[in-house]
Amino acid sequence: MYPNRGRKAQLTMENKCVDCGNCCRETEMILSERDVDRIKNSDPKNLQIANFVKKTEDGLYQLKNENGYCVFFDVSTNLCKIYEIKPQGCRFYPLIYDSDKKLCVLDRDCPRPDIFYPNKTSQVKTCKKIVRFLEKQVLFTKL
Ligand code: SF4
Repeated sequence: MYPNRGRKAQLTMENKCVDCGNCCRETEMILSERDVDRIKNSDPKNLQIANFVKKTEDGLYQLKNENGYCVFFDVSTNLCKIYEIKPQGCRFYPLIYDSDKKLCVLDRDCPRPDIFYPNKTSQVKTCKKIVRFLEKQVLFTKL
């Protein structure tokens, strides 16, 4: 489970996302049905689900990529085009769930995970939310 972008408005100058765009490159972000509905219903151009969602081999929803980046990533600004309504998993990033190890880890693609998760306590707290999100909103709605 992956990505996040455009969080700089919430950060101070001293503690700022470096806007590298790594988090939205070749994203594998899993979406809940709620994510899909929220994004689809909020888009002013009547976005179709097929434009931004693909199915994994396990039958889960996943964000689509285009030219190596998430379809919602703006390469000219390095920001998320749907920041206000972005997927729940993007909000948790750079903390992600490693399904092989069955634990939460900080994604190595993020050069400054400490900005978002400065200590173990914050990671543990969000990890519980991630597990709950996966259990209740993702696996529950598996196709
Ligand atoms: S939805 Fe936004 S934050 Fe999430 S991967 Fe796409 S561009 Fe990045």
